[in-house]
Amino acid sequence: MQVDTMADAAEETCTSQNPVKFTAKEIESIGFERKTSIDPIDDNGYVQSQRCNLCKWHIEQGNLMLNLNCKHRLHKKCLEVWFLDNSKCPICFKQQNLEEMQRKRV
Ligand SMILES: [Zn+2]
Ligand SMILES: [Zn+2]
Repeated sequence: MQVDTMADAAEETCTSQNPVKFTAKEIESIGFERKTSIDPIDDNGYVQSQRCNLCKWHIEQGNLMLNLNCKHRLHKKCLEVWFLDNSKCPICFKQQNLEEMQRKRV
């Protein structure tokens, strides 16, 4: 049986302005925010928890997260993995700008 290896033709394209993915070092330089607030509780007693748009899990107090310029909010640990292969938002595929994310550091 022949294994059809897809040629990575896209890798040759030079996209200096819009990188297709980020390096671990670049991701490390992103200004992730630490969630310090406690989730508010609504009138019915339900916790209005913020959720990560990628894994759908709660963003708990103390977690590191990032609000993207497209208003999507993700865990640091989710984005770290995603950004090693992608430079776009995992939800809406909006191109993310590294410099802009670095500036978010609090
Ligand atoms: Zn997540
Ligand atoms: Zn988005």
